[in-house]
Amino acid sequence: MTIHQNLIAGEWVGSDATKNINPSNTGDVVGEYARGSVEDTKAAIAAAKAAFPSWSRSGILERHAILRKTADEILARRDEIGRLLSREEGKTLAEGIGETVRAGQIFDFFAGECLRLAGELLPSVRPNIGVEITREPVGVVGVITPWNFPIAIPAWKIAPALCYGNTVVFKPAELVPGCSWAIVDILVRAGLPKGVLNLVMGKGSVVGQTMLDSPDVHAVTFTGSTGTGKRVATASVEHNRKYQLEMGGKNPFVVLDDADLNVAVEAAVNSAFFSTGQRCTASSRIIVTEAIHDRFVAAAGERLKSVVIDDALKAGTHIGPVVDETQLKQDTDYIEIGRQEGAKLAFGGELLKRDTPGFYLQPALFTEATNDMRISREEIFGPVAAVIRVKDYEEALAVANDTPFGLSSGIATTSLKHATHFKRNAEAGMVMVNLPTAGVDFHVPFGGRKGSSYGSREQGKNANEFYTTIKTAYTLA
Ligand code: NDP
Repeated sequence: MTIHQNLIAGEWVGSDATKNINPSNTGDVVGEYARGSVEDTKAAIAAAKAAFPSWSRSGILERHAILRKTADEILARRDEIGRLLSREEGKTLAEGIGETVRAGQIFDFFAGECLRLAGELLPSVRPNIGVEITREPVGVVGVITPWNFPIAIPAWKIAPALCYGNTVVFKPAELVPGCSWAIVDILVRAGLPKGVLNLVMGKGSVVGQTMLDSPDVHAVTFTGSTGTGKRVATASVEHNRKYQLEMGGKNPFVVLDDADLNVAVEAAVNSAFFSTGQRCTASSRIIVTEAIHDRFVAAAGERLKSVVIDDALKAGTHIGPVVDETQLKQDTDYIEIGRQEGAKLAFGGELLKRDTPGFYLQPALFTEATNDMRISREEIFGPVAAVIRVKDYEEALAVANDTPFGLSSGIATTSLKHATHFKRNAEAGMVMVNLPTAGVDFHVPFGGRKGSSYGSREQGKNANEFYTTIKTAYTLA
């Protein structure tokens, strides 16, 4: 099998390889991908540093053309790349293709942003002096990504980094290197000069850590677990480096007595279980008021019976497998913890056998949960959700906000008063009314607050806050 190599200073290098395994069929090797070393990572950082002076001064049309060409190729190859994504990560083909399209749209958006770079011109408080406020690239950006969105998250970090004139060292999650390799290959063929983008696949503890320890990495954008995020923060403070963290969630979805039951059930089931619950914006706490509680639980149970869990690539599959054995164990451990804590497993939670060996788990819905249980406080990151019964809207809001996290928050209601109050008072970066907590647009800010995020927002035009630094220049007229 050919090894997909790392890209360092414009050369494809590396012979040590890791197998990329299909979680729907563990006998299927998706490909072999290079495993970078400390030396590889240092060489990649040096290459990005050397490429910075020229790339940071490159013309906006050059950057626009490269990002635009990349967008076009990703979109043209959506079926093939989407299939690769589903094969390596386990989300359904529709979800894999959807995520690939989103990555293409993100490159397209930032191709446009290259042409919209702007500054401000102000009069000084002193006569005859003008003040210019401009944005300049930060330098070498370290991009560290998780396994659950193998193409969208790399796209929403790499596209703005390049758009604003930074150079990049990119370390994707070891579990899903396929889509990352594909977009780097596309960017290089689209005309990116040598060293501007370097790909170092391999272990976080080796490649990621070397990036964090380097004084030549001027900014790190990270999405992943809270534990690794804290490492990024500590190391970045040490180097006085800019950093941005998107981490875990324990997103609430509130269902009020006046909700449209169908809307509430669809949004809750989608939030909790689609993409196998492996979304940072997934809802794992479904907070339901008294009068609708029993009807909601019955309808959600019925809805879950119609959900097909199978090979991600099979037509008709609604939910694919869990990503790997470690994550599957974490999910089943939490199901056991929920039982022991006294919550009632109302639906699912069983391991499933399918035609091929894979990590299949039936979505698990707990009822009679309380907000102080571990299943309500800790991120599980799988198809496991708990229904928490509350008296009224006020209690629902209090429970929704009683969490160390603050990424996304949802409500199902037909009351304008409650929807408006919830939008204003939910302690989260994103709020959804009568919509799933997951599923966001690519052209608007993405991010959270409290323990979920740190730093400025990703995506949309607000991305420039992280990928640029402001300069204020004064000129005597
Ligand atoms: P991890 O934190 O384990 O890994 C994230 C990335 O960090 C991977 O590339 C990993 O490499 C790397 N890494 C690991 N150790 C180090 C280190 N010492 N130094 C530098 N980099 C390191 O998270 P997961 O991949 O398991 O992703 C799941 C988590 O991501 C969940 O908690 C989820 O909530 C969160 N997430 C948050 C999102 C958000 O926007 N808020 C979106 C998506 C996910 P390797 O793979 O080689 O270990």
